[in-house]
Amino acid sequence: MKHIVIIGGGIAGIETASALTDAGHWVTVIEKDAQVGGKLNNWSYLFPDFTPAENLAGSLVQKCSEKDFSVLHQTEVHSIQRQNGKFNITTSDEHQLEADAVVVATGYDLFDARRKEEYGYKIYDHVITSADLEQLLLPGGDLTVAAGKNPKRIAFVHCVGSRDEKTGNHYCSKVCCITGVKQAIELKKRLPEAEIYCFYMDLRMYGKHFEELYREAQEKYDIQFIRGRLSEASEKIDKSLLIKSEDTLSGRPLKMNVDLLVLLVGMEAGKGTANAAATCGIGCEESGFLKTTDSFLKSNFSEQEGIFLAGSCTAPMTINDTILHARSAAMEVDCWLKKQ
Ligand SMILES: Cc1cc2nc3c(=O)[nH]c(=O)nc-3n(C[C@H](O)[C@H](O)[C@H](O)COP(=O)(O)OP(=O)(O)OC[C@H]3O[C@@H](n4cnc5c(N)ncnc54)[C@H](O)[C@@H]3O)c2cc1C
Ligand code: SF4
Repeated sequence: MKHIVIIGGGIAGIETASALTDAGHWVTVIEKDAQVGGKLNNWSYLFPDFTPAENLAGSLVQKCSEKDFSVLHQTEVHSIQRQNGKFNITTSDEHQLEADAVVVATGYDLFDARRKEEYGYKIYDHVITSADLEQLLLPGGDLTVAAGKNPKRIAFVHCVGSRDEKTGNHYCSKVCCITGVKQAIELKKRLPEAEIYCFYMDLRMYGKHFEELYREAQEKYDIQFIRGRLSEASEKIDKSLLIKSEDTLSGRPLKMNVDLLVLLVGMEAGKGTANAAATCGIGCEESGFLKTTDSFLKSNFSEQEGIFLAGSCTAPMTINDTILHARSAAMEVDCWLKKQ
């Protein structure tokens, strides 16, 4: 029986572990946090169909208990040495593991919105990120703003920390346009009186049901989409926010007073992925995401033989794409091991 070590126990890691166990392999997942599931544990309802995130998180936990693979929680890989075709792995708590193949599934980090000072995140009370809003959309989440009132006017800003010269993140984070649509609809369901505006550069509704959801947002929920990049936000004495933008379709400058500003933060490769890349001796792209051997037929292969890649450590992706990428990683590992 071959032993595979997977670094990262998010959706990608657990899905790869599950598929490799089904294929008859012995699998160990190394997860730095106390629980599996990764970012999914922080989300409320999922696009495109508003499935509660806890349902999916629950099925990952169930896979861990029902299937015969082990998860080492609160553990990281300290070093990996290659010897006689095997990987000798030392963990942060000084366990030694011997593996025939390794899968890196370390996911992404959220863009730190404080880096866009002009929007006032962590400076002004009612500027939050899309990740913060996910928490507020959970049952019992408090959506009130100044003086305990519900926000009457809410604005979303797209592309915060993505497609942005200043932060050096030139790529599109792929999931934030549709996350904005999902969250705007959720807000409108809770606060039917609120006016909601989304400030975008381009709208990228490429996925299955995304365009339909965007249409529904406009037609059924009266959410307004304004083409324009926000230049700055400032806080007024009553804690509402004055935002400045340009409506790039009409060419006119635009000022608006809002009660809540939501920054749709992008995905970055992150520290966990950088650490795993350094320990495994594998390369990163300019964006920081892990380099795959080619973009078509080898999207699960790293530059090191026997070390495979799964999920959003390679590029921003939705949960659906993460699951597909993880399953293909499992298939590639299985085929590679059979050839050894
Ligand atoms: C605000 C927001 C809302 C979203 N909503 C949706 C949605 O509604 N629907 C949807 O399809 N997608 C959504 N997404 C995208 C979704 O979060 C990702 O597709 C998914 O989390 C990718 O899973 P992953 O396993 O690749 O990465 P992650 O979720 O990042 O998991 C990585 C795991 O690896 C662990 N790890 C990292 N480094 C190490 C290390 N060095 N050693 C050990 N363990 C490590 C982490 O602790 C984590 O458990 C949203 C994204 C954002 C930003
Ligand atoms: S998905 Fe939309 S909001 Fe996110 S970076 Fe791409 S264009 Fe911007």
